[in-house]
Amino acid sequence: MSTHTSTNAAHSYERMSCLDNPELFQDPLLEEPPASTAPASVRRRYSMLESKAQDLCQSCPLLTDCLYRAVVDHNVSGIAGGTTERQRNEIRRRLGWTVQPEDFDTLAGVTGRHRQVDHDEVVRLRQANPHESLETLAQRLGCSLSTVKRHLRRARTEPRRPKKTVSAPSMAAVLAAASAVINRLRVAA
Ligand code: SF4
Repeated sequence: MSTHTSTNAAHSYERMSCLDNPELFQDPLLEEPPASTAPASVRRRYSMLESKAQDLCQSCPLLTDCLYRAVVDHNVSGIAGGTTERQRNEIRRRLGWTVQPEDFDTLAGVTGRHRQVDHDEVVRLRQANPHESLETLAQRLGCSLSTVKRHLRRARTEPRRPKKTVSAPSMAAVLAAASAVINRLRVAA
């Protein structure tokens, strides 16, 4: 999923694979990776989608900038800057950096079907309707199920979240951490 919103990048939009392949980059399975207990066929499909999206990112002219923003500025789900959400979490851990989860459904420029929701609105609605399913909550909010889950996860973990460091990590630091994480996970795979 693209993390680019600047007009400077507009000239590259036609070459951004995530915009050309919304059905791949926004596949719900990429947004919510299957647990290790999920059926093998589901995990195989996830691996196939993940490799396909990551391969496409590798030829994107905005790869390094997209990766930096996805690590430092935005906490989105799915593939961004050639990395998975899990990889970006590990990169942030190495950098000592935290970013609030957010709903990026409307900012990628590829989906108009969801709106950006306010964190407090999600939490308030959940507290007011504790027995309602998360799917129903997402419908009422006009956002995706994964967005609702992200906000509720944030509400659970926020009090324990460490404070942000003052200076944002440099591009060189992010690239070095990304390279270490991707290589380590590749070796471990
Ligand atoms: S690096 Fe990947 S997610 Fe980022 S803009 Fe390019 S194709 Fe999209």
